[in-house]
Amino acid sequence: MGEARAGLLAKELDIHTFRDLLYNFPFRHVDRSRFYRIADLRHGELPAIQIKGCFVNFREEGEGLRKRLVAAFSDGARLMEVVWFAKTKAIKAMLRIGEEYVIFGKPAEYRGVWSMAHPEIERFDPSKPPSGLRGIYSLTDTMRKRGFSMQKMREIVGNLLDDPRTARVADPLPRQLVERYHLMPFAEAVREMHFPTGHASLAKAIERMKFEELFYVEIHILRFSRSRGEKTPGYVFPKIGRCFNDFFFKVLPFQLTGAQKRVLHEIRDDMRTGRQMNRLLQGDVGCGKTMVAFMTMLMAVDNDCQAALMAPTEILAEQHAETLRQWAEPICIRVELLTGSTRAAARREILASLASGDIHILVGTHALIEDKVEFRRLGVAVIDEQHRFGVAQRSRMWTKGTLMAPHVLVMTATPIPRTLAMTVYGDLEVSVIDELPPGRKPVDTWLRYDDNRIEVDRLIFSQLREGRQVYIVYPLITENEKLDLKSLEEGYRRTCEVYSKWPVCYVHGRMKPAEKDYQMGRFVSGEARIMVATTVIEVGVNVPNASVMVIENAERFGLSQLHQLRGRVGRGADKSYCILMSHQKIGADTRRRLSIMTETTDGFLIAEADMKLRGPGDMEGTLQSGLAFNLKVSDLARDGQIVALARRAAFEVLDGNPGRFAPRATPRPGVAPLPLSEPDSRTVSSEIARRFAVDVDWSRIS
Ligand code: ADP
Ligand code: MG
Repeated sequence: MGEARAGLLAKELDIHTFRDLLYNFPFRHVDRSRFYRIADLRHGELPAIQIKGCFVNFREEGEGLRKRLVAAFSDGARLMEVVWFAKTKAIKAMLRIGEEYVIFGKPAEYRGVWSMAHPEIERFDPSKPPSGLRGIYSLTDTMRKRGFSMQKMREIVGNLLDDPRTARVADPLPRQLVERYHLMPFAEAVREMHFPTGHASLAKAIERMKFEELFYVEIHILRFSRSRGEKTPGYVFPKIGRCFNDFFFKVLPFQLTGAQKRVLHEIRDDMRTGRQMNRLLQGDVGCGKTMVAFMTMLMAVDNDCQAALMAPTEILAEQHAETLRQWAEPICIRVELLTGSTRAAARREILASLASGDIHILVGTHALIEDKVEFRRLGVAVIDEQHRFGVAQRSRMWTKGTLMAPHVLVMTATPIPRTLAMTVYGDLEVSVIDELPPGRKPVDTWLRYDDNRIEVDRLIFSQLREGRQVYIVYPLITENEKLDLKSLEEGYRRTCEVYSKWPVCYVHGRMKPAEKDYQMGRFVSGEARIMVATTVIEVGVNVPNASVMVIENAERFGLSQLHQLRGRVGRGADKSYCILMSHQKIGADTRRRLSIMTETTDGFLIAEADMKLRGPGDMEGTLQSGLAFNLKVSDLARDGQIVALARRAAFEVLDGNPGRFAPRATPRPGVAPLPLSEPDSRTVSSEIARRFAVDVDWSRIS
């Protein structure tokens, strides 16, 4: 390969070595054994497909940069268009009208006409058998522009596979595991991934590559987390005492839902073991996590400990403090709020009372983890993440306990599929609240286009007249902050004009915190009736009077994010609405993604759909900082079974080779330890070193 091509591979696809190239698998395979008919094309399921037929005519269209070559292509029954934007001369010279070709590409429809841009084209050769399965590689636009085509990629990979040195690449999985799990050996699997010989063998190859990937991820996570449980003792809270009982029997303003009760039992059981609790509490927006957190804190207080609640923003911390005070006052529990804007004198007093143990529960923002904050005995730290995972911040929290690390409960509104949580966090326990308190009103969700603005305005007017409040949210995506900010500003101006009778407030992520809090405060108090904002509000203000959530450019948000935003309404009003505004021109995939929102309000289904459509690495705002590895072939949403197998294999290897890959290992019941031969053992060591160059303990969530 020449230097120019090698440079492109490095820059565009991060491929630097032969190994990178071998592992650059097709992201999907297409079946070229069948010819589609134009009449069979449908929206929604549009992979690359092949059609057999003839070119009927060619015409040049457009001027200058928009110049293109358009051909009419007939499959004998119907016509479609084939379009080229570059190299048009060469293409025209190459193709003959009336001869039979096979065109291969992704069809698109515009105003009832199907078309295909820059398809792969081959002469139809009736003597050649259909080629069956073919891999599709990702290529960037830059690569395509420079003539680095799909065919070229196949050729390069083919050459590499045929090189005798490739045959000498060692299998990255220990031979003993390959045998125990009946996996396809490496050399065969790699060839099959790139050039499949059949559906069954391709499936075996994919399974093997997934296993390999997941096995090392699991080994990496487990070799730390297995020793953790033994090393980290936790406070033992043997009793349910006065605070908890008084609250439960005399104050609790409603019946706990079944799910809340179950989770409280799980937490109580954790706190009796003498091991530090490390629990993730998942539950959809509004399911009542705060109550569970409060009652957990009461367990600590009853056992002569303090508790802390950390929120991602000041507004949220204030709201939490207010909520907890209402519950705590009747049972004589002292709750204080400590944030960046707490005045010096008040701060001094709070710090002193905290050290003496007069304050039972401290609520705050990140200010809580500043070094000066010292508890007498911090027994439980609750972290309300909403949907962010700030691993680094959390790691400081547990140095706060003077005697021992506190129990940690992390609350998140992003339902992470179990397989993912398990894989990412190893031995972390997960609790799920899968039930909403009674009386919630489902939010009516609409998907609307720019043309429907009048209808949307009409709805907003009627809700404002009824005394309700409205959110209007714009995307803010860092790649082009200027442009985004402009659309937000324009939206604000338009809103002020159209709804001139009502006060509007304005919040975006680049504002100074004080200004942001002031603007949010205006909305929370009800003074401002409309809030125009970027996603900053998704971290959870609670304004039950708000009944409309308009999301502009909804196509640019992830589903989980949309779900979070939608959760801001439907908390009080009789009827609430979520309006997803989108450009008219969106692809079929995007339309499908957005319509999931109109079909379900189940956050779990939405998160899974989101993961399936975009892959976990892309889940905005959920795992950016938590996902320590990049999965290339596996899909955690779909590969639950392989995750489980790979995990078992990881346990077997760790148990069978004590002290070799992990500091120490204790056998797990039900695991058949697999002592590795010396070469196999070396394979595992070197793969771990290669794959996880930076040693971070990702199993630890706190
Ligand atoms: P989230 O899980 O999003 O943090 P919250 O804890 O803020 O949800 O709860 C949302 C609202 O539901 C609060 O006003 C809370 O008091 C109320 N709530 C919580 N649990 C129950 C319940 N079991 N029955 C009725 N209302 C509840
Ligand atoms: Mg909450």
